[in-house]
Order: sequence, then C-alpha cells, then structure tokens
Amino acid sequence: MWKVPLSDIRFDSEESNAVLNVLESGWLTMGSVTQQFEEDVKAYVGVKNAVAVSNATAALHLACLIAGVGPGDEVILPALTFVATANAVRYTGATPVFADIEGEDSLNISPSSIEAKITEQTKAIIVVHYGGYACDMHAIMQIAQRNNLLVIEDAAHAIGSSLDGRMLGTWGQTGCFSFFSNKNMTTGEGGMIITNDDAAAERLRHLRSHGMTTLTWDRHKGHAWTYDVVGLGYNYRIDEIRSSLGIVQLSKLNYYNEKRRSLTNFYREQLRRLIPEIGLPFLNHPGLSACHLFPVLLPDTVDRKKTMDGMKANGIQTSIHYPPIHHFAAYRSTETQETLLPVTEKIANRELTLPLYPAMSKDDVKLVVQSLQTSLHPA
Ligand SMILES: *Cc1c(COP(=O)(O)O)cnc(C)c1O
Repeated sequence: MWKVPLSDIRFDSEESNAVLNVLESGWLTMGSVTQQFEEDVKAYVGVKNAVAVSNATAALHLACLIAGVGPGDEVILPALTFVATANAVRYTGATPVFADIEGEDSLNISPSSIEAKITEQTKAIIVVHYGGYACDMHAIMQIAQRNNLLVIEDAAHAIGSSLDGRMLGTWGQTGCFSFFSNKNMTTGEGGMIITNDDAAAERLRHLRSHGMTTLTWDRHKGHAWTYDVVGLGYNYRIDEIRSSLGIVQLSKLNYYNEKRRSLTNFYREQLRRLIPEIGLPFLNHPGLSACHLFPVLLPDTVDRKKTMDGMKANGIQTSIHYPPIHHFAAYRSTETQETLLPVTEKIANRELTLPLYPAMSKDDVKLVVQSLQTSLHPA
C-alpha cells in the first residue's frame, strides 16, 4: 500500500527456525532461551544485569519502583516522548513533571530545565534518548548527584547507542529497552531492563514475577520445590518465543544500526542540498546513535498536515514524534499548575518524522526527499 512506509521489519529463516525450536522444545516461558537472551544483551551492552520483561512500559514501571518512586513523589521527564514514559510514573502514584527540550539542534530533555523543575518532592529523572541520540548525560548525572536523585534511562530508541564509548542505558540506575515491532530490534512485544546494581536486579527479578522467590523453571529443573512471595509483584514476564526472536535480532543489530546511520547521513546530504530550509536536529550530535528515527523540522510557515497529506498522496508514510504529553486530555486533567514548556511548544509543531528502516534503499530516500520538496513547493 505504501511505496515507502515509515518503518518495516524483515525476518528470515533464522527467526523462523529459532521460533520453531522453541515450539519443539515444549517449554514456552521464562526458561533457558530467556536466560540466553539476557546473557546476550548483558554482553552486548556491557552491563552486569539484564532482566527481560513483557515490554518497555513494564520495564519503566519497575525502574520507577526500584528507584523508590511512589505516591507524593515527583519524577522529571520530557513531554516530547511516547506517553508510556509518563504513564509508568503514574502507575506508582507519583506525579510526572515535564521539563523542556534543548532546542532545534537537540530534541532531548534540557539539563537546565531539569534543574528548574526540581522540588523537595523530586525523586528521580527519566531521560529519553530521542531517536537514539544521547541526552547530555554528563550534565544530567551531575545534577542528579548534587540533588540526590536517581536517573532512569528510557532507552527504547537507543539499543546500540553510546556516548563517549559508554552504552546508553548504563549511565543511570536502570536503563529500559523496547523490542516493540517498530523498534531497532523486535520481538513483537518485549522489553529489557538493565542495571549494574546487583541488589536492584534481584528485586527486579522478583517484581517481574509476582514477587516470587523461585520460578516455575527452577522448580522444573529440580533446583527448588517451593517458593515464598516477598512483596507485591506483577506478571511482567516474557516468553521463550519472543526471547528466541530477540537473540536472533540482537545478532543482527549492529548491521541494522549501521544501515540506519548511513541512510541518515544520505538523507542529510540530500536535504541540505535540495531543501536547505528544512531543520536537521542532532546534525553534529555527540556519540554514536542507533538512528531509530529520522526527525526533521519544517519551516515555521509550513502547514504540517498539508505536507503529510501531500506525501501520503505520493505513497510516503510520515509521522509525528511526538504530540507533547501535557497536551493529552488524560494529562491536562492531572495538571496542578500550567506546564510551561516554551521550546517544546515551538518545536514540536514543526517536527515531521520521515521513513527510516534498514531495508530502505538510497532510491527510497531520494523518493522521500523529492516528495517532501514537491509537497513544500507545489509546481
Ligand atoms: C516504544 C517506546 C516505549 C514503550 O515501549 P513498549 O515496549 O511498547 O512498552 C517507551 N518509551 C519510548 C520513548 C518508546 O518509543
């Protein structure tokens, strides 16, 4: 239907075989395949603990609980993110407090805005590495240390991204990855929470499965015959089918991410040459990005909806990342005072996300750029 969709996934016989092997094994949830998936992520990211969960929203919820976030607390996060980031805070009974983004060059949360939002009630900061581009982690970790706050990284876009050689997701107390269908690697639905804090990891393992001290798998293996329940937990488990997909997808991730980076560079070359009035965020951004999204900024005067419709007529799918959370009905009503985010307001209205996925060709990129050009400047 689309000539160039926003994103696209390709599986081959490696994924099919992995899934078939699980089906034939007769063990479908939280067993040796999930353990292997966790080991692989640990090794890839360079972190002491990785706990696989049902999705990144669950990961973020557990990350908040581990940080001690609860009723009466405030958690600072950007409004320019997927609603899951803020929902996770509200699941704990705490209040999300939105901070502004940096500006046209970086759509990430602004360290100075974080500082301005800190109160007596602030417990934690959730950073979101927009599109896989690193937040200013040096400044943010300093602010957190000075104010005794914990940092949670929403790294849903950022598996394989790094800053100064250190992987994103390993800077804060916890890092959360998403393996949803449109992310850089996918298990359909799935997520992983990583931490270098062993005690936190043990609690995460309990919280993931009803607060139970042993798993069905351990009992099956004869390692345990009963269990205790040590706290209020959840069913946030992942299954072996998804984990088997994850193992294969992770083995292809560097190749995929490299493709995304090279397509991003090609987009930028084309756009600077052909449509110089288009703003290119993260152009000289520090670190290595997983290039999950390709966001551009339309000129102030351009009607975004018209541009998207024009591109749609050419078979090109575009999107918006994101409608700022504080504008949603479910969030407007939770506001105790007006949220003032001047930079987010100004820039979010101009953001347009162009198609980006590893199987895209340079010709596809040219087609998208051409379509954007004609939509902006109709003959
Ligand atoms: C996708 C996404 C999530 C949620 O991930 P799920 O695995 O779908 O729960 C959270 N935050 C951001 C920034 C995302 O893009």
